Amino acid sequence: MNTARSIERVIAPPPPHMVGDGFRVHNFFPSGAIQSKQRMSPFFMLDYASKFEFPPSEQPRGVDVHPHRGFETVTIAYHGKIAHHDSAGNKGVIEEGDVQWMTAASGVLHKEYHEASFSKKGGPFQMVQLWVNLPAAYKMTTPRYQELKKEAMGHLKFEGGVLEIIAGEVNQIKGPAKTFTPVHLSNLHLHKEGSFTLHFPSHYNTGLLVVKGSVQINDTSASTNHFVLLANDGEDININSSEESTILILAGEPIHEPLVAYGPFLMNTWEEIDQAISDFNLGKFGVLD
Ligand code: MN
Repeated sequence: MNTARSIERVIAPPPPHMVGDGFRVHNFFPSGAIQSKQRMSPFFMLDYASKFEFPPSEQPRGVDVHPHRGFETVTIAYHGKIAHHDSAGNKGVIEEGDVQWMTAASGVLHKEYHEASFSKKGGPFQMVQLWVNLPAAYKMTTPRYQELKKEAMGHLKFEGGVLEIIAGEVNQIKGPAKTFTPVHLSNLHLHKEGSFTLHFPSHYNTGLLVVKGSVQINDTSASTNHFVLLANDGEDININSSEESTILILAGEPIHEPLVAYGPFLMNTWEEIDQAISDFNLGKFGVLD
């Protein structure tokens, strides 16, 4: 018999900071509101760019070339468009509803910018960047790139709305993303007074980000831009909306390994961090203009 999870915290968005000049983000973890590197494992970082109006700019705003090693970056666009290039030769535009799942693994260089035509026009921009840790066995595997278009998501339709599954499986409907450990990621779209119940094993670390609208989660209220951290004491999560709402759902099996984070590198030991810095300085992450 399943039990309802209790709500550990409802977290208001921490003050935003700029990543490069294009991403105005609230960090919910691991340095903002939840100051723990392991509490949301396998998710290491959640940067949330709440809806913000960017004025037109001829020069696209963003983050210039930088490396990553040891994990995956997942970018989810809600408003605006993001252009991406990496040293493995991948490039693309992440449009509204799309997700880019980049496995940095052994190492890539990449850059992330507002897409040129969006930049010229300006307008509302809203996105999420999530860092998903990799277990030691996969940290040095070959980089991989998954461009997941909105249409490719698993769609679970029900009376009160639709669950757009990015990764994982609910009621035999699968998300398109390939993952290295059990990860569930989805966007729940609820109509006014819509309702849906999700079930995850209680040891899965689970959190919800209210991207739009206002909901009750197991009877606790949460409004736009708030993150809800669920306790590991039950399986069931019931979500009710008081208005048209969108909720990003994160759940995953924790990776029980030592974790050393240094800037854009996420490894198991300091020796591996030193190696990453040395490999980066030697140009082993490839080339990207
Ligand atoms: Mn990056």
